[in-house]
Amino acid sequence: MEITFLGTSAMVPTKERNLSSFILIYKGEGILFDCGEGTQRQLKITGIKPTKVTKIMISHWHGDHVLGLPGLIQTLGSAEYNDTLEIYGPEGTKQFIDMMFKASIFDNKIKIKVAEIKKDGVFLQNKDYSIEAFKLDHKVPTIGFNFLEKDRRRIRVNKVKKIGIPDGPLLGKLQKGQEITFKNKKITPEEVTNLIEGKKISFIADTVPCKNCIKYAKEADLLICESTYSSELEDKGTDYMHLTAKQAATIANESGAKKLVLTHFSARYKSQHELEEDAREIFDNVNSATDFMKMRL
Ligand SMILES: [Zn+2]
Ligand SMILES: [Zn+2]
Repeated sequence: MEITFLGTSAMVPTKERNLSSFILIYKGEGILFDCGEGTQRQLKITGIKPTKVTKIMISHWHGDHVLGLPGLIQTLGSAEYNDTLEIYGPEGTKQFIDMMFKASIFDNKIKIKVAEIKKDGVFLQNKDYSIEAFKLDHKVPTIGFNFLEKDRRRIRVNKVKKIGIPDGPLLGKLQKGQEITFKNKKITPEEVTNLIEGKKISFIADTVPCKNCIKYAKEADLLICESTYSSELEDKGTDYMHLTAKQAATIANESGAKKLVLTHFSARYKSQHELEEDAREIFDNVNSATDFMKMRL
């Protein structure tokens, strides 16, 4: 899976940074997290076709996280987009989407399914992954998201060949973790497969430090966390209900996350290194995101 940051600025764009958004490409499917103004152009610049997007996760309805939605949806309407676009967001999302469609003329409509997430936990799952949401503490209803890849089993080819199990349904069963009988002998998945643990990616959007941050980012392989200010402006962070880099690092530390990537920076910071250093006092494995930065997991 690959993550591309499309916008890493908070509230207003800068010359270097667009507004909040990143895309996770998993087995060819694009899952977009937030969609700040100009997100579709950022996608094009980085070479990802907007039509790859099948699902959009909205953390909250502050403009810097959603104003790119109408433009992206209009573009999908003029392209050959045959999927149903799924949009998930906090309470109020349905009404906001309705109003958004009334604010301009949409000639080419695509099929859209909108769902409001009202409680913490898994709200979507398929054979490869699940996505869960958790409430954050911001000025308006706001949720964070976890992308949870499922564990899978990889066949140990040498072992399977030695026993003589042919390609086909028996191998499929073993891969699903089921025991099989081959030539009157029981074979367990542990004997002939390796378990590959699924990755966990946590996204903490606009918030002040809260219990859910630590609870839901627990042991994430990657924690993507807002970090609007450095510690010097902690009071401002409290007033506007945002995290400082150090607070983001504390969340990473207490949740046992393996890696932290900071994003959603106030436009006052010309270089994100000040924020990165602030975080590093608490948590070592930290990076600050830049627009178009890619990460493979
Ligand atoms: Zn924001
Ligand atoms: Zn906000």
